[in-house]
Amino acid sequence: MCIRRLLQCPPLQWARRAAFLKHFQSNHQETHRWTHFGGSTYRAVIFDMGGVLIPSPAGVAAEWEIQNHIPSGTIMKAFKEGGENGPWMRFIRGEIKVQDFLQEFGRLCSEMSKTSVPVDSFFSLVTSEQVSKQFPVMTEAITQIRAKGLRTAVLSNNFYFPEGRSFLPLDRKQFDVVVESCLEGICKPDPRIYQLCLERLGLQPSESIFLDDLGPNLKAAASLGIHTIKVHDPETAVKELEALLGFTLRASIPNTRPVRKTMEIPKESLEKYLKDLLGIQTTGPLELLQFDHGQSNPTYYIRLANHQLVLRKKPPGALLPSAHAVEREFRIMKALAKAGVPVPNVVDLCEDSSVIGTPFYLMEYCPGLIYKDPSLPGLEPSQRQAIYTAMNRVLCKIHSVDLQAAGLEDYGKHGDYIPRQVQTWIKQYRASETSTIPAMERLIEWLPLHLPHQQRTTVVHGDFRLDNLLFHPEKPEVLAVLDWELSTLGDPLADVAYSCMAHYLPSSCPVLRGFSDRDLTQLGIPTAEEYFRMYCLHMGIPPIENWNFYMAFCFFRVGAILQGVYKRSLTGQASSATAKQTGKLTEFMFNLAWDFAIKEGFRVFKEMPVTKPLTRSYHAWAGPQSPLSPTGTRSYSSVPEASPAHASKGAMVISPGGLRPPVRELYERLDRFMKQRVYPAEPELQSHQAAEDRWSPPPLIEDLKEKAKAEGLWNLFLPLETDPEKKYGAGLTNVEYAHLCELMGTSLYAPEIFNCSAPDTGNMELLVRYGTEEQKARWLTPLLEGRARSCFAMTEPQVASSDATNIEASIREEDRFYVINGHKWWITGVLDPRCQLCVFMGKTDPHAPSHQQQSVLLVPMDTPGIKIIRPLTVYGLEDAPGGHGEIRFEHVRVPKENMVLGRGRGFEIAQGRLGPGRIHHCMRLIGFSERALALMKARVKSRVAFGKPLVEQGTVLADIAQSRVEIEQARLLVLKAAHLMDVAGNKAAALDIAMIKMVAPSMACHVIDRAIQAFGAAGLSSDYPLAQFFAWARALRFADGPDEVHRATVAKMELKHRT
Ligand SMILES: Cc1cc2nc3c(=O)[nH]c(=O)nc-3n(C[C@H](O)[C@H](O)[C@H](O)COP(=O)(O)OP(=O)(O)OC[C@H]3O[C@@H](n4cnc5c(N)ncnc54)[C@H](O)[C@@H]3O)c2cc1C
Repeated sequence: MCIRRLLQCPPLQWARRAAFLKHFQSNHQETHRWTHFGGSTYRAVIFDMGGVLIPSPAGVAAEWEIQNHIPSGTIMKAFKEGGENGPWMRFIRGEIKVQDFLQEFGRLCSEMSKTSVPVDSFFSLVTSEQVSKQFPVMTEAITQIRAKGLRTAVLSNNFYFPEGRSFLPLDRKQFDVVVESCLEGICKPDPRIYQLCLERLGLQPSESIFLDDLGPNLKAAASLGIHTIKVHDPETAVKELEALLGFTLRASIPNTRPVRKTMEIPKESLEKYLKDLLGIQTTGPLELLQFDHGQSNPTYYIRLANHQLVLRKKPPGALLPSAHAVEREFRIMKALAKAGVPVPNVVDLCEDSSVIGTPFYLMEYCPGLIYKDPSLPGLEPSQRQAIYTAMNRVLCKIHSVDLQAAGLEDYGKHGDYIPRQVQTWIKQYRASETSTIPAMERLIEWLPLHLPHQQRTTVVHGDFRLDNLLFHPEKPEVLAVLDWELSTLGDPLADVAYSCMAHYLPSSCPVLRGFSDRDLTQLGIPTAEEYFRMYCLHMGIPPIENWNFYMAFCFFRVGAILQGVYKRSLTGQASSATAKQTGKLTEFMFNLAWDFAIKEGFRVFKEMPVTKPLTRSYHAWAGPQSPLSPTGTRSYSSVPEASPAHASKGAMVISPGGLRPPVRELYERLDRFMKQRVYPAEPELQSHQAAEDRWSPPPLIEDLKEKAKAEGLWNLFLPLETDPEKKYGAGLTNVEYAHLCELMGTSLYAPEIFNCSAPDTGNMELLVRYGTEEQKARWLTPLLEGRARSCFAMTEPQVASSDATNIEASIREEDRFYVINGHKWWITGVLDPRCQLCVFMGKTDPHAPSHQQQSVLLVPMDTPGIKIIRPLTVYGLEDAPGGHGEIRFEHVRVPKENMVLGRGRGFEIAQGRLGPGRIHHCMRLIGFSERALALMKARVKSRVAFGKPLVEQGTVLADIAQSRVEIEQARLLVLKAAHLMDVAGNKAAALDIAMIKMVAPSMACHVIDRAIQAFGAAGLSSDYPLAQFFAWARALRFADGPDEVHRATVAKMELKHRT
């Protein structure tokens, strides 16, 4: 403190000092000169206290005198009275105590003013906390000076309080050196006190700048060679100091930058508006910066006189309907502040676009910390935990606001928040769509079908994430929740999920940073689940199950928002330079949303009733029943027949490279999926088949199914011929599918992942071809969606089933039902708990011509009377969870409308069903063989026997060559059969189908057997897929009819047509 104006030295003292200074200056002349040329080479700034860092006592005295009716200037005169020996000078040199000073000083004042002067009251005022506050501009300047590595000092003429402490209402930590007159026994302008200060700073006079508001003090400093600045007002003094130091002394406002060119606002008009609003007369220029925040509504920092404000406005240009409603932001913040939610204090809403071009509102600038990186670098794990807890709590506070009390009941619609949001964002997305994004298209269909039931309606922030929160710099406390643009009334769980998005985004994510690639335990950040549980605990609500839906919804919405930003960036309106990156990011968000949609689907699936196949009773298993309508309404004439038109359906493409571009792309996508997801999953899927719970589907396969579906790798099998409108499948020709099917065949698990596995494929094709609309709705849809599985029951233990006419199971008519009795075995897939449909073949008319005795019925697996006797094994392999079961059908009653195509048409159906189905197996067998050969080649290159790698053994080379040739031959025959089916129809391709059915399984057996041989004993183990491949290839010499039957067919045709 220095209550100055008193500090004028007597002439004698000045003479002495001048002599000393001369000597001092001459010794340091060089430094002095250099300092002034260098400008920025000052090393310290020394501040006087009163009138520089805190308000001047002269100003305080003048006002106090007016209020207390004391003649103006009394105090100041009394300060000077008596010169060096006056009461004030002795007081600030610490020579007299407060009471003595006040007594003497009071007497002096009263004598001078000829009235009683209550100096105690003046003393209290001038030392009060309220008056002796440091100027913010000086605090900022000191911070900046120190940040640049310069030293700071306060050189104060101050005094002692009665309790013995000195008057220094400053944070001492701001200064390297504090020199107080009352402690030193000397005061300014005594040169010794400046020297003392310099000594303590360890600097020469010329290396320092001294700021004071009193001329004599400055003069003394200047005589020593210290550079001086006279302080009239702190703002101007700081500017002068800035000029001398060569760097800015204004605290940089965090997260701001100069206003972007495209985002400039008319400063003059704004300044005028603010002056009127705030009643400011004279000011320095308006300072305007732009926050990095505010992608959507540009946000600015304003400094005008002593006011620091934040302005938020609508972006310029044409805007999407209902977006950027700054008026709503203003309203909600005003209401929430009253409700005790920490938000910035709003000051004014200006809806007049003529001021700065768009409506805007103003709020007080609230200094604090924004954690831009949600992984909170530099903090301790416990601090991170505390920050996330504070975030969670403030969200609970928002969600607990009483809408009625806050006057916010009409701030949005009540209920149906998610459905409305989904529709809004679909609409917004469509309005800003730039290209088709497959994941978004899927979400647009999926979300409305999986909407959650809204439990509560509260204020929702709509963009609640860590970097929209302003934290206290020293404790984990939210000072303000920012950016209310998307706020409304709605489902609070959407906010909770939204605040967990960072958990699923990588740290490199350019717009919304995340920490999915970081170890949360190490960081101390709660996991998304923990965070959600914390929320439920704070709110006193039970946790929800459909969490993944909310996450899907959040990423969907963010994607839609980013799409808007992206579109605006293309038209130059985006407020962020990073907006352009958002194009790619949009797609990324939609994909992420779809991943959550898949998880949600999987969760729903897992909740479906599941029991162990061997112990479950089908009688008790009540699956969903859909109402069935009467049969006989369908015209079968629409089923396409082989015709010349088929000629346009494809070419004989012999390698994937020749596929038409979209199919080639599909092939490449499939190939990527196989490499990235299927092959790596094989060990887990295989070990599941040996696990105790093997009769339940492995969760991984369901997960992969949903991923495949998401990538459009789904139901590829339905040939164009069966599904000409591509209603159900990918619309591939048989040849095209042959290439993709071969690729799937390289893994035993792949076909199911893409919903392309037997016996479902054959059954689905049967339903597409022959099913009524009702049958399709009930059975085809869940099968196509991969929600259900099915089996085909023809083979019977008691008869040679290679001959379908032998089938004995009876189908008897009884009222509106058919009653089934029979014994079946080798029924693939029947043990799978997901198996809901049995396509059953039995005899309706034992006395009809042999090919008209059989009929096909659709039997729900939960129909009473179906008894699974046991699972069968193939070379000891159970093929869980589908397996191959032996079953009895005992008085199983099925409604008549479950008959397919009509009585006695079973034989016809079985033939039609097995057309593409047979060839699919052959395509997969080529895949088995290719993989076996690839494994064999790798093995023989790395294994040495008898002094050289196996690959150098002639027999091994011969085996490799033989396998290659056989694979190529078989593939060409498969492709030829497929091509014929495409161009001439299944019937015309019968010979080729029979030929390939005869060739492919045997070929595969040979190739796989050679690979097993080359592997040594390992080839028989389950460490490699070879043994399983072999078992399947061998089984396929029976399944779909034994080789001999196909040979007989080929021979008959050969004899018939080629004699
Ligand atoms: C792994 C696997 C899965 C299966 N999945 C199913 C399924 O899901 N649904 C289903 O209904 N069935 C299924 N089957 C059964 C399969 O379709 C039958 O095994 C096949 O049709 C043969 O019938 P069969 O076993 O009764 O043999 P049989 O008819 O008893 O024939 C035995 C043998 O007799 C010889 N033979 C037969 N006919 C002739 C002929 N004309 N000329 C010369 N020799 C002949 C052959 O060597 C034949 O292997 C599956 C079989 C296996 C191995």
